[in-house]
Amino acid sequence: MRRPVARNLTVLAVSAAVVVSVGAAAPPPAAQSPGGGKTPMAVGYGGAVSSVDPDASAAGIEVLRKGGNAVDAAVATAAALGVTEPYSAGIGGGGYFVYYDAKSRTVRTIDGRETAPLTADENLFVENGKPLAFADAVSSGLSVGTPGTPATWRTALDRWGSKRLSSVLKPAERIARDGFTVDETFRSQTASNEARFRYFPDTAQLFLPGGRLPVVGSTFKNPDLARTYAELGRKGVDTLYHGRLGRDVVDTVNKPPVDPGSGWNARPGDLSAKDLAAYRTKVQAPTRTSYRGLGVYSMAPSSSGGTTVAEALNILERTDLSKASKARYLHRFIEASRIAFADRGRWVGDPAFEDVPTKELLSQRFADARECLIKDDAVLTSPVPPGDPRHPERCGTGGTAAPTTYEGDSTTHLTVADKWGNVVAYTLTIEQTGGSGITVPGRGFILNNELTDFSFTPANPAVHDPNLPGPGKRPRSSISPTIVLDRHDKPVVALGSPGGATIITTVLQTLTGFVDRGLPLADAIAAPRASQRNAAQTELEPGLYDSAVRKQLEAIGHSFKVNPEIGAATGVQRLPGGKWLAAAESVRRGGGSAMVVRPVR
Ligand code: GLU
Repeated sequence: MRRPVARNLTVLAVSAAVVVSVGAAAPPPAAQSPGGGKTPMAVGYGGAVSSVDPDASAAGIEVLRKGGNAVDAAVATAAALGVTEPYSAGIGGGGYFVYYDAKSRTVRTIDGRETAPLTADENLFVENGKPLAFADAVSSGLSVGTPGTPATWRTALDRWGSKRLSSVLKPAERIARDGFTVDETFRSQTASNEARFRYFPDTAQLFLPGGRLPVVGSTFKNPDLARTYAELGRKGVDTLYHGRLGRDVVDTVNKPPVDPGSGWNARPGDLSAKDLAAYRTKVQAPTRTSYRGLGVYSMAPSSSGGTTVAEALNILERTDLSKASKARYLHRFIEASRIAFADRGRWVGDPAFEDVPTKELLSQRFADARECLIKDDAVLTSPVPPGDPRHPERCGTGGTAAPTTYEGDSTTHLTVADKWGNVVAYTLTIEQTGGSGITVPGRGFILNNELTDFSFTPANPAVHDPNLPGPGKRPRSSISPTIVLDRHDKPVVALGSPGGATIITTVLQTLTGFVDRGLPLADAIAAPRASQRNAAQTELEPGLYDSAVRKQLEAIGHSFKVNPEIGAATGVQRLPGGKWLAAAESVRRGGGSAMVVRPVR
């Protein structure tokens, strides 16, 4: 056994150092006030909200100020993101909600993932014997799953919230009605979708006002969405699952409102009223693993986030990353990710359809069997074959390798804490930036293309792929909202990120940066990222690609390519005495927005 007995003590000392350095680095209060725009860090009392957008964070802060709890504020922030980040999130999509309940000191989760139509089978994306081109599947009715986001809000508020849906939707309704200020990110996301938005006149009318890209600095209003939110507040989410809004969604998916002159073949989907009526969120146990004496909790399947982050952490736990050189730290991080992705691909799918060995994937014994493959002076060849978590074989290489299937990469993550100590980490998505591109006419929101997260055909025809489409099945996700507890089951930090499959590596890198490398949370979030997902090349952001460490890693066999931007994380950290630190991106996606209710110096 190589595990040093004193390991946990060493690391807890590092965590303590983190708390001290973060406190010392707090920005002046002026930079932290709600409504004050984009700021990557805020420290203070009364609760905290961190999201990618100032209006959305302010919506959560408003609810906390009025006595709402973290769950109320999370729903308010999410609804506001549906207005200001309509290409990443909204009631046309789904997500995963992780909640720490301060009273019971336990973590609960909601799987609010979209589901495939009950008529779907594994050939959902096969046409004339061939898989559809990804882009053809995206901008179509075929890729639209039953939205899970409204049901997630209902489940969260019913179980753990203290306010009514109509009340927490108010700030978002107001932003939709009165408008928000267009920033560069919104304009550029619209620009990158412009061509396909023009296929769908309702989408073009809403997001290309006057036929043009929204101008930076102008006010963007979405009165249709304001009305839809008001209807949700009045009638409850049953208007989607059993009512008028649902009928509008079904009609749109079955007959996508495409401009015939565009020449775009917008394939219809088969979503029905039955699908909407059958939709259920799942309240389920989180994944848990212990890492350096801390409890790390996240989403269990249908997301692969929790098991994959945990497996990689368990692999990394065998190395003292606090003392490792930067090159050795990155090498270990890359190899652990590579291996964990091999196992994710083979074993994780919707557990209602697949026999997913969740417990075994989380076991230290399995991680140890896999860790043994890592060498200090060489790089594993991808695709690395999967191991068998039910029968861990030390250094085993017997499985059949498969490449990691493609996933889109845009979503949004928010993190909230309240004055009672409750915490929410919530990632919600419509999949691609701009989802299916199809706006429900008169309703002000875009439908998801989440079903493209399924494998279109088996990743390797020789082995079972747990992520093929099926009736009512949830496509595998990478979403990893994570809450870390100390040995008294009190929160240390909570975080998450968008980025498709890179979510897993972003959460892993940010966590190890914070826990092992002693980085303050905002710095761990800002650090240049690497992402390895069982592919020949590892993606590096320019900050790493253009640095000396790349050469050191290439010398032992690593191969890299540039990815200009990976993820957009947010997090909160509990500080002593009821104080919270909120942290967000300083640069990525134009910078995020960290806020607290009562800022302090
Ligand atoms: N559809 C992705 C997933 O569930 C999320 C998309 C993203 O984060 O960009 O893993």
